[in-house]
Order: sequence, then C-alpha cells, then structure tokens
Amino acid sequence: MADSKFPSSIIIIGAGIFGLSTALAISRRHPSTKITIIDRLTPPIEDGSSVDTTRCIRADYADPIYAQLALEAQQKIEADPDLSRYYFKQGMTFVCDGKPSRFTDIWHAQVKLARGRHHQDQIISLSSSQEVFERIHGSGSELPTKTKLGRELRWNKAYCNLDDAFIDARECVRIYYERCLAQPSITFQCGVAVDHLNLIDGICHGVILEDGSVHKAEKLLVAAGAWSSKLVFLEGRMYSSAIEVAWFKVTPEEEEKWKHMSITTNLSTGLNVFPPYKGEIKVLRRSAGYCNTVTIENPEDRKNKIEVSLPRTSITHPGMHMPEEAEKLMRQDLQEIMPSLAQRAFDRTKLCWLAQAPTADFLIAPHPRISGLHVATAGSAHAWKFLPVIGDLVLDSMEGHLSPALTEKWAWSLEGRDGGNAPRMDGKPVELREIFGE
Ligand SMILES: Cc1cc2nc3c(=O)[nH]c(=O)nc-3n(C[C@H](O)[C@H](O)[C@H](O)COP(=O)(O)OP(=O)(O)OC[C@H]3O[C@@H](n4cnc5c(N)ncnc54)[C@H](O)[C@@H]3O)c2cc1C
Repeated sequence: MADSKFPSSIIIIGAGIFGLSTALAISRRHPSTKITIIDRLTPPIEDGSSVDTTRCIRADYADPIYAQLALEAQQKIEADPDLSRYYFKQGMTFVCDGKPSRFTDIWHAQVKLARGRHHQDQIISLSSSQEVFERIHGSGSELPTKTKLGRELRWNKAYCNLDDAFIDARECVRIYYERCLAQPSITFQCGVAVDHLNLIDGICHGVILEDGSVHKAEKLLVAAGAWSSKLVFLEGRMYSSAIEVAWFKVTPEEEEKWKHMSITTNLSTGLNVFPPYKGEIKVLRRSAGYCNTVTIENPEDRKNKIEVSLPRTSITHPGMHMPEEAEKLMRQDLQEIMPSLAQRAFDRTKLCWLAQAPTADFLIAPHPRISGLHVATAGSAHAWKFLPVIGDLVLDSMEGHLSPALTEKWAWSLEGRDGGNAPRMDGKPVELREIFGE
C-alpha cells in the first residue's frame, strides 16, 4: 500500500511481542506514520505473557504454515546480533509415558514429523526411562524406582530435537522496546491503562484512558494479549487463562552439572523443565489452568453485560502464588525427573496469563463491524517465537494483503482443530476466586 493511503496516525494498545513487533514494522514501511504504543506499564511488562526468563524457540509444528514461519523467525533470531546473545540452542526433549492416550498419539506424530524434517543427527531417540533420566543427569545416574515413587514411571520414552532452543524472553522484549524508542515515529504512553475505545457509529476514533485523557488516531490496533476481551468483544474467539510457573534456585555445582540439558517436557504429564539459566531452573505445567470470570459491559455498546475471563496477576493482586494442588502435582512429577528439586522451596511462583484461541490460531484481523479497528492477539501459548516476523504479518493484514492462507487461519471466525504445538492437559480451568477468594 502506498504511504499516501496508509493512516497517518496509529495507536497500538499493548507493548508485548505483537505490539512492539508491529510498531517496528510500521515504522520501517511507513516512516511518516505517527505510532503511539499505549500500555498499563512500562516494558518489559512483568505480568505480560511476553516477559519471562525463558521461552522455547522451535519450528517443529505439524502445520506446514506455522512450521515455515517459525523456521524463518528462528533463523532471524539466530542472525540478529542482539537477540542471539540471549538464545541457547540446547534442544528440546519430548517425553511421554507410552500409555494409550491422545498425548502418546501426539508424541508419535511429532517424532515422525521431526525425523522427516530435520537432519537425522539432530534427532536423538531415548527409548527407556533410564535413558531419559541419564540425558539430564549423566550416564549411570540412579533413576528413582517405582517403589520409591509409589507409582508407575511416567517419563518413559523420548526424542530430543537438537534444533530447538530457548531464549531469554525478558531481555529480548527489552531489546525490541529499545529499538522502538530509537524510532522517531514511535512514542510510548505508559503507566495508565486504556479504559475503553472511543467508538461512534461503528467507527473507532481512538481511546479513552483510565485517567480520562483522550487519544485519537486514524487506526487502532488492539494487541492487549490476555486483556483484549476487556476492550473488544471477541465472541469466544479468545479465552484468557493462566498456567502455573515456578523457579528454583540452583547451586553453581548443579548449574554446571545440568548446563547442557535440553528443555525437557512430558506431553503425558504436562511438566516442562528448562535448563538452568542465571542460577535458577524454571518449571511449568501445561495444565488446564486457571481463569478469572468477571461480568463487564460489552465493550461494543457499553450497555449489555458479558462474562469474560480477565487476568488477575501478582501486580493487580499482590501475594498471588501457585495454588497448592498445582504445587503438589508439580512436585510429584519432579520426584521422578528432577528428584533433588522435588522438595526444594520455590524461589518464586507465578500464574502466567495467556490468550488462548480454541484452535490455537492467532487472531489477526480487522474488526468485522467497527471500522478503523484491527486486532492482533490470541497468541495461545506459542506466539513468542514469531517475534521477528509477526509485526510484518500484522501490518500485511492491516494493509489488506496478508496471504489468503494466513487470512483464513487468523480470521475473526474460525473452524478446525488445534493448530498449536503446546498441547494443554485435559480439564477445565479452575476459577481463581474459588482458591483465593474475591
Ligand atoms: C507460561 C507461558 C509459556 C509460554 N511459552 C511459550 C514458548 O515457549 N514459546 C512461544 O513461542 N510462546 C510461548 N508462550 C506464548 C507467548 O508468550 C505469547 O503468545 C505472547 O507473548 C503473547 O504476546 P502478546 O503481545 O499478545 O501479549 P502480552 O505480552 O501480554 O502483551 C499485552 C500487553 O497489553 C497490555 N494491556 C492490556 N490491557 C491494556 C489496557 N487496557 N491498556 C493498556 N495496555 C494494556 C498489557 O499490559 C501487556 O503488556 C507462552 C505463554 C505463557 C503464558
């Protein structure tokens, strides 16, 4: 699209990976467009999905479209002199218990795919619990017995994809924030949240902040992650829930011993253990998670009431921590794969909010009823890795020339099955008020 036709001013709500990457893409393609990024807080935003000690970077998607985009993004991260300083290609080991279940089926499909797409030397097979254990703890390490665990072993067979990596997500968001700050066309407005969008007769004119100030722009992009439903009625296209994450301090000796381990994840139990980084090990569970259902005014008419789940974080609710039941399950699982951490006190825990789509496909589309409004959200626990490419794709969508395949995949309405590659455990998210009260 020629610059003369592109909006002269744009507001982006949200300084996560969607918002920052899009702002940079716009500043490159349309240097005369004035971009304002608005966020509740100043980046890197601690309770945003994009900010964390680590994120997985990998291209082993079953879906060829995501696989191609993820590969392109991974290559860009590797070639980026700033991001690559925080990128560690130590592989990812995918484990399952081998019992008949959808997770074992996913595991079998993944191995086949990995063997077909990657060089044979990059895929390592681990055919027993002992081999899985030794891959982390070294040869001859003593695997806990069934008797000691009081249950069957569940980390039974695995493959490791050495092309997979982890990255320091906080540092990379800081790098993107600083790149945005260096652009003359980008301004930040941080510290006060957007209260609502300024909608008049089906046209979006900008936003009203919680302090009452009015900000106008020709075009608005909502990239507010798990908070997006507060600003736009998403009609079930995205659902906010949180999963539990914990950090353990490790000693220098432990860090040395485990420094070459790969990210290790058990598809059957949902446990995901990261290699030690900066003196700590991060563990998360891909559980059904937690939600916080509240009744709000429909953002479209600001009259009718709707029920949505919205983030309740350690910033909005200090003292939030991992629920006891989740801690119990995490420790049970650790007893088998990281026994020395199973009883260790957590350094800290967090409920990390994500914007989940029913099919795990992002939502990058114009609003179907409101002109001047675009949405880029529903990262669904797998969008971070697309940081270097997602902004240009959001911009393609805003300009109306996103490829037909991606337009369909990221449309407002969608049908189909889960296209992501971080399957969640069965069950329904638990209401946080049932655990922590109002
Ligand atoms: C535990 C966990 C593990 C994950 N692991 C991986 C992984 O290994 N690999 C991977 O690729 N992806 C992973 N993801 C997914 C990835 O992190 C997210 O998809 C991605 O970061 C989403 O970015 P975002 O920009 O949509 O959201 P966010 O980073 O949350 O940004 C949204 C921003 O909007 C702001 N905002 C919200 N409401 C308002 C308002 N009213 N006014 C002003 N500002 C507002 C918020 O403050 C926030 O900064 C994981 C996610 C989680 C939660």
